[in-house]
Parts: sequence; C-alpha cells; structure tokens
Amino acid sequence: MKLDPATLHVAFVLLSAVLGLLLIFAWRQNRKVEALAWWGAAFCLICLGIGLVNHGKISGTPMALLAGNALGVLSHGALYAGCVRFNGRRGILLPAAAGPLVWIAAFPFIADEPQIRLMLVAFLTGVYASFSAWELWKNAPQPLASQRVAVLLLAGLGCLSFLRGWLGITLTSIPWIDAFASRWSSEMALFLVVFTPTMAFIFLSMAKEKVEYGYKQAAFSDPLTGVPNRRAFMNYAMRLIERRAGRPITCLLFDLDNFKSINDGYGHDAGDRVLMSFGDVLARHLPPQSFGRLGGEEFAAVLLMNSGEAIAVADDIRHALCAAGHALLGAQAQVTVSIGCASSLSGKSVGILLQEADTALYKAKDYGRNVVISA
Ligand code: GH3
Ligand code: MG
Ligand code: MG
Repeated sequence: MKLDPATLHVAFVLLSAVLGLLLIFAWRQNRKVEALAWWGAAFCLICLGIGLVNHGKISGTPMALLAGNALGVLSHGALYAGCVRFNGRRGILLPAAAGPLVWIAAFPFIADEPQIRLMLVAFLTGVYASFSAWELWKNAPQPLASQRVAVLLLAGLGCLSFLRGWLGITLTSIPWIDAFASRWSSEMALFLVVFTPTMAFIFLSMAKEKVEYGYKQAAFSDPLTGVPNRRAFMNYAMRLIERRAGRPITCLLFDLDNFKSINDGYGHDAGDRVLMSFGDVLARHLPPQSFGRLGGEEFAAVLLMNSGEAIAVADDIRHALCAAGHALLGAQAQVTVSIGCASSLSGKSVGILLQEADTALYKAKDYGRNVVISA
C-alpha cells in the first residue's frame, strides 16, 4: 500500500484543529481543569504552524517558515504549560515562551540551513515534550492511571524529537528510520495521524479522572481537617479487619478535652485551628488512612498492633497535641485529649471495637482526662 504524505498531512492538520477545538469545548464545559484550554490551544497552534510551514515550503517565503515553526514550538510550550497547570502549579508563561523566542532569535543565522533548522526545532520540541513528561510524573498531586499513560506518550514524543534532531546531522541509510528526519515523509505523517488523537483522548481522560478524584476526595475526607471522614475510616477499618490474617488489631478513640471551653475562651476559629492541628498530629503519628474524624472533636484510629504498642503511640499523640496547643494558643492553654483503647485477637467487628473503645474513653474522662485507658 502506498501512503500519500500530502493527504496524510491534510488529515493531520484538520485532525489537530478539530481535536484542539474539542479540548477547548471540554474546558468550557468544566472550567475547573484549565489545562484542557492549554492543550486545546496546543493542538490549534500546531495546526496553524504546520499549515504556515507548508505554505512557506511551497512559496519559499522565509517569514512563513519563521512564523510557522515558531507556532509549532509554541504549541509544545502550551503542551508543557497545560501539564504544569494540570498539576495545579503556576509560573508557566516564561517557560512556554522561551522556546519560540530561542527559535526567533536563531532564525536569521540558520534561515538557509534546512538541516540546522530541523535540528533546532526538533531539539526545542523534544525539550518541551520531555519536560511535560517529567512534570506529569514528578509533580502529580494525585495518582491517576491516565496520567501515567500520558507520561509514557510524552516521553516517547520527546525521544522521537531528539531522534529526528540527531538524524538531521547523521542519516543512518536505513530508509524507514531516516524517513523520520523529514516531517514530510508518509511515515512521519502516519505517526502524527495516530499519535495526535491518542494524546487528545488521554488528556480528556486525565481531566475526567481528576474531576472524579476531586469528588471522591470530597466524599471521603473531612472538609475542615482534610483527614479521612467517618465513611472513609469505617471502610478502611473493615478492610483492615478482613486483611488482618491473625494479627492483633487495636482501635483508638480520641475525644478532645473540654473543647467547648476552648471555643468559649479562644473563639470558634481557634477551636477549628486546634482540630486541624490535631489532624496533623494524627497524620504524623499514624499510617495514612488509618484514622479519621468521626464528627465534632471525636477522632478514631485502627492499627495492626497489640494494645501495648497502640497505647505507646496514643501517648505520643497526647503529648504532641499538648505541644501543638501551646504553639497555637500560648503556654497557658490546656489542649488535651482523652483516648480509649480496645484490642482484639479474634474476629471482632469495627462496631464492637469502637463500642469498647468508647467505654474506655468514658473511663478516661472520669479519671480526669488527658490519659489513655484500655478497655
Ligand atoms: P469533654 O472533655 O467531656 O469531651 O468536654 P467537651 O467540651 O469537649 O465536650 P462537649 O461534647 O460538651 O463539647 C464538644 C464541643 O465541640 C461542642 C462543639 O461546639 C464543639 N465542636 C464540634 N465540632 C466543632 C468544629 O468543627 N469546630 C469547632 N470550633 N468546635 C466544634
Ligand atoms: Mg465529644
Ligand atoms: Mg470533648
């Protein structure tokens, strides 16, 4: 089968335009994912860039080559900017503009050197694609399956760009490899026709996954402290009990002491800050997800430990809260927590463990507060 490069190029340019507009449409539907707008712009820019370069090749106009390639490089800058914004980070304009500026500055010196022009454009786009892959891999604030696929695709695109730059200096005499040195070969065009929709699909599914992840986080985490809420804690505890495989399990129930008087004495906002600070204390002392806010000033944790080990951890948490309270409200502040502890070596349910820990917690309050009592 003979593939016609010109037809494939027309298909690629039209495909990029349609996909770019669809990505921008998806952003208009859900403005929370700003990256979609950047990626949409990247697809539209590459369509314009390649169109202009085509025009420059046919008409021999250097300005079209200059502007077309600048748009092509800028489209990769927008690709990178989208990845940075997707991770919720700022500072994108300068890096996105740097590549096109390098190209524009170098153009007067290399206008008559097609090989060097190819190398420079390939190098700049390779750098952007590699940095995009690095950004999505290194700075991802949430674990998304489609984001990992995007890392692979962008890293592949980076490698291909560098390979094209290198082929610009030294062709291999292997026709199908050398074909990639020319943007106008049917191999390169076919690659772009397959790669472009794949990339757009992955960007859309990243956005979808990110929005779903946000909803899931909201459904399973406490909005004030950011720690898991009651539902998330109960799910985790039930799964832990199923997976315990004969190991002892201990439930800790925490209730901040005289919290009403903290609110009354220092204000409700100070009370909120104490709750947030207690969330941090728990996060520093316990495995991720093993604890949660049950409601009000009551928290719980479930640990694969025997009672003695769990009491030691609970005591550390108690001391850490006192110190955090002094740091927040001053040395005279009494910010303490009473802790009930219940353990099981057999198959007790979470409900039973929490009940037993609650009974122990009552005893801790009766005992004078700021203590750990085991059921
Ligand atoms: P005890 O030592 O017996 O546990 O006394 P306590 O004052 O801590 O217990 P009580 O149940 O009487 O009061 C709990 C207080 O916690 C009352 C409520 O206003 C406060 N509270 C519950 N949720 C929040 C919250 O999200 N923020 C703030 N600032 N206060 C809260
Ligand atoms: Mg309470
Ligand atoms: Mg209390």
